Amino acid sequence: MNDCLFCKIAAGEIPSKKVYEDEVCLAFYDIDPQAPTHFLVIPKQHIASCAEVKEENASVVAHIFTVIAKVAKQLGIESFRVVSNVGDQAGQSVKHLHFHVLAGRDMTWPPG
Ligand code: AMP
Ligand code: ZN
Repeated sequence: MNDCLFCKIAAGEIPSKKVYEDEVCLAFYDIDPQAPTHFLVIPKQHIASCAEVKEENASVVAHIFTVIAKVAKQLGIESFRVVSNVGDQAGQSVKHLHFHVLAGRDMTWPPG
């Protein structure tokens, strides 16, 4: 998508601090970390949010979760939270599907 920040990061047009990359997805550290470890995992293809996950692209999401598990192990993270905000009320600021992975501090429930 032309004017999408995360499409540009996925294409390497905007730099990111990469944690993991393959042909399907990219993991990189969040520019404004909300925990001692905070990275994002995005599909390389543009999917607007969890609300746009369909049978045709569901395998991308399944793959991303295998990457989350793999990267967490590589980073030595045993306890973490995975978050995906959908829409304005939930606080989605970038309209390209992404999963936040947060770790390294105590977390509260319910989230704010
Ligand atoms: P959300 O608000 O759930 O849509 O999450 C978007 C996330 O992207 C926020 O946590 C931002 O800090 C993060 N972010 C925005 N721009 C960049 C960037 N250039 N590199 C890394 N993370 C970014
Ligand atoms: Zn995009």
